[in-house]
Amino acid sequence: MRDHFEIRDGDVAGRIGELTVPRAGVTVETPALLPVINPNIVTVSPARLESEFGAQILITNSYIIHKNDDLHEEALDVGLHEMLDFGGAIMTDSGSFQLAEYGDITVTTREILQFQYDIGTDIGTPVDIPTPPDVPREQAERELAVTEEALQDAEDVDTGEMLVNAPVQGSTYPDLREEAGRAAYETDLDVFPIGAVVPLMNSYRYDDMVDVVAGAKRGLGRDAPIHLFGAGHPMMFALAVAMGCDLFDSAAYALYARDGRYLTVRGTEHLEDLDYLPCSCPICTSHSPDELRAADETEQERLLAEHNLHVSFEELHRVKQAIRSGNLLELVEERARSHPAMLDGYRALLEYTDQLEREDPVSKGSFFYLSEESAFRPEVRRHHDRLARLDATGTVLLTQGGTPKSDQFDATWRVVPPFGPFPRALSETYPLTAEVPDRTDRAAYEMAAEGVARLAAENPETTFVLAHDGWPESALERVPDDVTTESIHGVSPDNDDETA
Ligand SMILES: [Zn+2]
Repeated sequence: MRDHFEIRDGDVAGRIGELTVPRAGVTVETPALLPVINPNIVTVSPARLESEFGAQILITNSYIIHKNDDLHEEALDVGLHEMLDFGGAIMTDSGSFQLAEYGDITVTTREILQFQYDIGTDIGTPVDIPTPPDVPREQAERELAVTEEALQDAEDVDTGEMLVNAPVQGSTYPDLREEAGRAAYETDLDVFPIGAVVPLMNSYRYDDMVDVVAGAKRGLGRDAPIHLFGAGHPMMFALAVAMGCDLFDSAAYALYARDGRYLTVRGTEHLEDLDYLPCSCPICTSHSPDELRAADETEQERLLAEHNLHVSFEELHRVKQAIRSGNLLELVEERARSHPAMLDGYRALLEYTDQLEREDPVSKGSFFYLSEESAFRPEVRRHHDRLARLDATGTVLLTQGGTPKSDQFDATWRVVPPFGPFPRALSETYPLTAEVPDRTDRAAYEMAAEGVARLAAENPETTFVLAHDGWPESALERVPDDVTTESIHGVSPDNDDETA
């Protein structure tokens, strides 16, 4: 049990948690966004990040500080918190990025962790190898072994109250990510960054990102705080949180601002293309696109960076509220409609229904059926599993419409796509209180038919009659042959239909 991380609330595999950072004397509420501070180029000051944007934690790079004589001296002299003027928690990276970029760095895990400790870092990082996507498996394995050695070195360094990251690598091999997750979890290290996913996000490979995160999650315990390292685009926060990621860091807010890019939850816009600003943050309500374009380079960069931060923190608040309200997947569905690659990401997520189902709360607000993908949500799977445990005896009518005209049935169950059949006594329980469209789709019918098949398979002695509202052939062919089917399409239901 990791006693510095407590889960307070959850939806899908997403959670609201509390990360206690003892060295900073603060508790960070997750999901949290860590703005990246480049100590050489400060676009928005850490003090303003704290007071105006509500940042509880930020990340900077200890290797850059280590390499620069002035910063090195100042950081050792006054400490990181005073140097940056930030009262929250400070995480530092180790130079792994520079190692990946330039092939060589001048420090070891032991040296850089000691340095991080000496400058007052609250959460430090060993030197791991961020293996990029799509490398040969042999390279991914070899580099993972080096990363795992770094984690062992990190365990040996006396870091006092400083928390230490245990990065999870493994390139685009989900089984290596799982193995890496398990090895990291077995150390006594504290926070678990899933590394080297930036190239996946930059090329919109959200489905591959989901596979990588799902792999790592299988290896890590549920109580492990997980950092999706380098993920800073607000468009994918809901998806990543639904997978179980707790920490995000954004260099994007500043990097994108530097080349005139304006973040939205539906994607990235170029300032030069905007006739309107689709945002009500302090920057966007006090500037027109023309005014932003007319600002000098530094000013424009700062203004865009502030907008980018506002939109990122706002989305994180929306995600947290969605967890509280139990409608995180509805938000993921909404975001999935903003880009085909996001839709791929959501569809990939739904391939892990079993994995998600284990963490998904049993009862929430209200299930909204919003797209064909909704038919594959964990709640539908769970209902089908529940059908396997329900007894149905004698002759049972399963109906989308009215009650039987005679009492030839021993029981009457309702049928609602995508869930399928259920006894009327369960009508008021989650997720069967779902809001579903009247003009539903093939996926919902097919899934309901699978529910019928599941129930029939578990109750071979029972006679079932299915009264359906004109199901398509693709759904009816999933209904077992010994279930009698009857279309009630166009037949008006009896009066007491909706009251039962
Ligand atoms: Zn704005």
